Formats: sequence, structure tokens, C-alpha cells
Amino acid sequence: MKKDLLPFTRSEIEKIIKNYPTPFHIYNEKKIRETAKKLYKSFSWATGFKNYYAVKALPNPYILKILKEEGMGTDCSSLPELTLSEKAGIKGENIMLTSNDTPAKEFQCALKMGAIINLDDITHIEFLEKNAGLPQFLCFRYNPGPLREGNCIIGSPKEAKYGLTKKQLFTAYRIAKKKGVRRFGLHTMLVSNEMDPGALISTAEMLFDLVVEIYKKIGIRIEFVDLGGGYGIPYRPDQAHLNLDCVSAGIKKAYETKIIKNKLAPLRIVMECGRLITGPSGYLVTTAIHEKNIYKNYIGVDACMADLMRPALYGAYHHVTVLGKEFAPKTHKYDVVGSLCENNDKFAIDRKLPKIQPGDTLVIHDTGAHGHAMGFNYNGKLRSAELLLRPDKTVSLIRRAETTQDYFATLDFFNL
Ligand SMILES: *Cc1c(COP(=O)(O)O)cnc(C)c1O
Repeated sequence: MKKDLLPFTRSEIEKIIKNYPTPFHIYNEKKIRETAKKLYKSFSWATGFKNYYAVKALPNPYILKILKEEGMGTDCSSLPELTLSEKAGIKGENIMLTSNDTPAKEFQCALKMGAIINLDDITHIEFLEKNAGLPQFLCFRYNPGPLREGNCIIGSPKEAKYGLTKKQLFTAYRIAKKKGVRRFGLHTMLVSNEMDPGALISTAEMLFDLVVEIYKKIGIRIEFVDLGGGYGIPYRPDQAHLNLDCVSAGIKKAYETKIIKNKLAPLRIVMECGRLITGPSGYLVTTAIHEKNIYKNYIGVDACMADLMRPALYGAYHHVTVLGKEFAPKTHKYDVVGSLCENNDKFAIDRKLPKIQPGDTLVIHDTGAHGHAMGFNYNGKLRSAELLLRPDKTVSLIRRAETTQDYFATLDFFNL
């Protein structure tokens, strides 16, 4: 099956495993760069187009540095993510803070760095002014509520805690303008892992309409619209890729009829895609250590949901390839499980796979976004290493695996 094709051969990965024991995530630099270039090419008509990569998807400075070289900025939601961006050499307005329930310290840090601050609530204008001061440039996050549907991962906008209502949005721009803010952005984020170009185009149309309305009612010329992230990837082998050229063509048409016609160009288009950029370029490599046959057949691997939470959290499908058996007939049905004391610690349920022997290497696909990043230490599980497969096929360790010492690092046994 095409989805089983890997960026490394069996002997290559076996050599890597000799140096870096499983489990680990490995990221394919070549494909990350190609994907970034593809996105930028699709939107080459949009002057000043930029993707602020959502750091939360894969918060590793080596990855951020690659994305910087491909022309991206970062979208951050916490102080450590701001710091990571800076460490990766990303500066000033190439960094955006899209945070909610934001602590004062985050605002202070973002302001000091000259990052673009994207406010999640109308009360945050005053909070920001009091705790950090107001910048020249402010962006607001819009929540259309019942006007839009959202999608199944992110839920309905009217149930979402994010953003300002339409009425608040207009008031917020008015207040900010009065307080001396000079430059403005407009943001929204309504979908997650969306595969339908129509839904993504509708979001752009909605924001373009707002840009026109804000200009007409308040006299503010919005500098950029931020379409958010949530552009989807095909996790399942039978799914097609999101057609970016189609999304881009739809957005271009809306830009022409709404923005250019109303003489509001240039209006920059930016987005905050995480998953789209790195998701398909990551693999969780793990070893089968046990086979257990009770009421169902289980393959126990040395990774667990602390390494990849998406199947347990969302029931998400992640394709599994048994290394060296890519084209073997899928004659067996297994649950592929980790060792956590939670019965949802399963990477695959009732999955048809070739016969697996303990010692086989399993490769779990599409872990380059919201994979390692979601790791946690419940059950005393330690987070795995992260490796980078360079275009010349050499491998760099870009984050070592956690050790028991790391787990104990926040404990003080002296007063015990
Ligand atoms: C999670 C998130 C993103 C990135 O989502 P992807 O699905 O990785 O593209 C972008 N912006 C905001 C505000 C987010 O919360």
C-alpha cells in the first residue's frame, strides 16, 4: 500500500535503532521543507503571505529553525513557546502570541519581544494596557458563534471559549484605536484537521467581509487576516490530500471580489498551520515486545499513549506499518497497545496487519504534529527521544529521551 512507503529502508532504520533505542519520533526534514514550499507556492499570488507555524504542534527549536528558513514565523500560546521561537532565531513580528486566559507575564514577554499580540477577549485590552502596555499593533480573535459550524474535533464556535463576539469585536477595534493602537490584524480559528476546501474558503470569505465592514464602520484598515490553522492531512490510507491549490483559488476569488473591489488591498493573508506542515513528516518508531492472546489479540509495543495521545484522545486513526512487511498480506487482526494502565492506551484497534513477532519494528505514521508534543508523565511514563532525518540521510538527535532523573527533577527527597 502506498501509505506504507517510508522515507527510510529497513536497514537504515535498524542502524538508527542501534544508536537510539526505540521508542522515538523521527522527522523527515526533506518532506517538511517540501510541504512548506508547496504551501507558499499555492499562495504565491498573495503578497506578504506567511504561515505562523503553530509551535504547539511540534515544539522543537530544530524544527522551528527549518521552518524559519522556509519563510515561516511562529504562533505561540505560552511563555516557553515564545522562548523557543526566539531560540530558533525567530524575532519580532515573525512571532505571534495567540493565547487565551493569558497570564500577565506572557503579555509582558511578547511585548518585550515585539511579537504580534492576538487578543482573545475584549477585557484583555485593559488587562494588557495595565500589565504590559499597549503595542502599536494589535490583532483580535473573532468567534462567529452560531453563524458558523466549526467541525467535529474543535466543536461548534458557540460552545468554544475563544475569541470575541461580533459586537465585541467592533467595540474592541474602536477602543484600541482610541487608545492609540495604529495597526490591526483580524484572526479566527474555527476548524481542526479540516479536509473540505469549502469550509476553509468560507472562513476567508467571512474575514474579508468583516474587513470591509470594519473599514466602513470604524475607518480602520486591517493589515492582515489570519485564517488560523486546522488545515487537514490524510491520516487514513484511502483519504486524499487537501487540495491547497483549490483552497487558494477560492480564497483568491473572494479576495478579488471583496477586498480588491472595495479598494482595501493590499491586505495580507496569513495562517497558523501546524499539522499540515509537519504532521505527515513524523513517525513514531516502536518495537513489539509482547504478543498476548485472550479475548482479542494484542501486540504490546514499547511506546505508549504518552508518546502519542491522539488515538486515545480523539479515537484518531494512525496508520501502522510493520517494517520489512510493507507488502506482506494483512492476515491478522490486532489491537496495538502500550503499557499504560488505561484501556484506551491503544495505537490501533482491530487493525488488519501482517503477522507480527515480538522484536518486529512498528512504524506509526503522521506523528509530526500533536504527537510528542502532547506527551505526559502519567503512570511514570517517560517521553521519548526526537530524531531528525536530514536530507543527506544522516540522523540528528534533536531531543533526548527523558530519564528517571528527569521524572524526579521536580522532587526534593531531603525533607522526606
Ligand atoms: C492548534 C492551533 C493551531 C494549529 O492547528 P493545526 O491543526 O496544527 O493546524 C493554530 N492556531 C491556533 C490558535 C491553535 O489553537
